[in-house]
Amino acid sequence: MNGVPSEHLEQVPVTLVPGVGHVKQGLLAELDIYTVDDLLHYFPVRFEDRRPRPLETVTEPAQVTVLATVEGAPELRWRGRKSVLRARVRVDHRHLVTAMWFNQHYLRGRLGDGRVLRVTGRYDPDRRTLVVSHTEFGGAEGAAFVPVYRSTKGLSTSQIQQIIDKALARYGHALSERLPRELVDKYRLWSHRRAVAAMHRPLGDEDRRQAHRRLAFEEFFLFQLQLQALRARRAHSEQRPKLAVPEDAFETFTASLPFPLTNAQLRACRETTSDLVGDRPMVRLLQGDVGSGKTWVALWAAYAVTRAGGQTAFMAPTEILAEQHHREAHRRLQTLGVRVELLTGRTPAKERAAILGRLAAGSVDLVIGTHALLTADVRFARLELVMTDEQHRFGVSQRNALRDKGRWAHVLMLSATPIPRTLALALYGDLDVSVLDERPPGRKPIRTVICGYSEEPKVILRARQVLAAGRQVYVVAPLIEEGEGEGDRATGAPSAVELEARMRDAFAGFSVGLLHGRMPGQEKDAVMRSFAAGEIAVLVSTTVIEVGIDVLNATLMVIYGAERFGLAQLHQLRGRVGRGAYESCCVLMSDARQGVSGERLRTLTASEDGFYIAERDLELRGPGEFLGVRQSGLPEFSVGDLTTDLRVMEVARDEAARLVADPDFWLLPKYAALRQLLEDIETPPSV
Ligand code: ADP
Ligand code: MG
Repeated sequence: MNGVPSEHLEQVPVTLVPGVGHVKQGLLAELDIYTVDDLLHYFPVRFEDRRPRPLETVTEPAQVTVLATVEGAPELRWRGRKSVLRARVRVDHRHLVTAMWFNQHYLRGRLGDGRVLRVTGRYDPDRRTLVVSHTEFGGAEGAAFVPVYRSTKGLSTSQIQQIIDKALARYGHALSERLPRELVDKYRLWSHRRAVAAMHRPLGDEDRRQAHRRLAFEEFFLFQLQLQALRARRAHSEQRPKLAVPEDAFETFTASLPFPLTNAQLRACRETTSDLVGDRPMVRLLQGDVGSGKTWVALWAAYAVTRAGGQTAFMAPTEILAEQHHREAHRRLQTLGVRVELLTGRTPAKERAAILGRLAAGSVDLVIGTHALLTADVRFARLELVMTDEQHRFGVSQRNALRDKGRWAHVLMLSATPIPRTLALALYGDLDVSVLDERPPGRKPIRTVICGYSEEPKVILRARQVLAAGRQVYVVAPLIEEGEGEGDRATGAPSAVELEARMRDAFAGFSVGLLHGRMPGQEKDAVMRSFAAGEIAVLVSTTVIEVGIDVLNATLMVIYGAERFGLAQLHQLRGRVGRGAYESCCVLMSDARQGVSGERLRTLTASEDGFYIAERDLELRGPGEFLGVRQSGLPEFSVGDLTTDLRVMEVARDEAARLVADPDFWLLPKYAALRQLLEDIETPPSV
């Protein structure tokens, strides 16, 4: 097996790593690890510092690693099936401490008098006790930093560590360079191979810094290369025919709406229109806080294109959202003569065939759907505009696959994520952005409060009143089940599974539903649909609740373990309530009221402005705190951290732009691998 070329690591299944059989293969698959390449790029979420420190510097209970010598014989006690092993140990030849091992009775025979240990655990200086979580025998060198991997039930972080060790030993040499040589030299970057090894097994802080810098740069650079290549192609593309939008179209559209457009909506419509009637393909991001009314702007664009004789495809990330948009489009546009259709995985085959026929014949003006729009048999007579909702949920390739069904079709991407301006610039450079920074009038503010767990009974009481009044309630948990996720950080927050049971008890007589990311897509949709229909009164969920979902009757949102979420994410979750005419409330359950965590949560009670919240989040979040960037609406990076590596992104952006502008890039064999990467994504438009 030696000498595997690196591009092949993506084809080497994990089962070829010694010690990985079918059981472990299945568990790894739960973590989205299928190949050796996935495995080698599955980086630790954090490191445990196991450098020994002098005990006298520990003044509050804390995690420590110390050198200790056992004195006397250990004592073992059982309580039912649980055991406690106690030993008196001398730390640093000075301090006498009681060390305790829970449920590790098998260590007893190895803890004889005089035995030298290197132990890690929680030390309480008042009681002089040490609850040991990790034991090494013989006091010599242990690893200074121990990686903690995101684990899953049945596969612990230390098992993952062992598997990765074997994979590194066997296949590490086959990782090859992905960046152009000149960039590696110019920025003195470590090689890809060296950085990957150091990500898993750093010898010290400098190793970690270098490995992170190298891989963040690579990740950002490849992201930017795709973006910049798309832009370069647009700039050099032939002119597209201008759309002729009739003069009266805008007035006709606005006259049909039940309320006037906000000033922000008016501005966004104007900006979009001027792109649509231009001779370059539009690539515009429509950004607006939850509830700011992006849908109507999108419907205007579709209407304008219809009046100019073109077709529009509007893609949403889930069936529910697609159905919701379809209802709204049907209600607003059908009377204006726009022929609207819905195409999702649920569309029956016969109906689907009929719709496809009409699309190809040009007798459908606006088709709204899910990924079902992407398949090759979906053809358009004259596709002029492609729109995506919650744009970050689609990969670049998916967006382009749809766009390429038209000839240089215009693209409008909707996003509910308020990206701070500095970040937007670093990410997208001069991408065109329309911002809806104003809410439709008449919205009631959402009251937001922070409650400790001791106040839970009050919250439950409140929820019962809400339910009795005929309204609905969301309950959000940070985890699906206990013991999953990043190591086993104690948080005090119950899991979704646990909460569901608790809510069933608390709200007897009301139906309680459960929604989480491990459920199959169809099942998730079914639960969400029953909640939208009012059949479920209390929805217990992880963060998978649809960002765009509009359940006007839901008025209370309770978020457990609130400190574990990113602010932007909490803001998005809160946006699920307060959409109708009723007073709404959001309760942040957390005992973390001190320090940065508390300050972050208070930002939410003080403001409902998503842009302000995003800026504050960026300020408050310390380095390495990347929990919460996920699902926040920004592109996801596995190494690079947008909150701390912004400068790296800017450099990567400029280098990528320079490279795609260089004719050599498109010709020389040494760039073939990078070009290939773009080609996989950039299929040329079909003529
Ligand atoms: P989002 O930007 O989150 O996608 P939506 O487009 O779903 O927001 O709009 C949120 C709600 O506000 C919808 O019920 C919509 O009908 C309503 N709405 C949109 N624009 C206006 C407006 N100008 N005046 C009053 N209500 C509006
Ligand atoms: Mg929306």
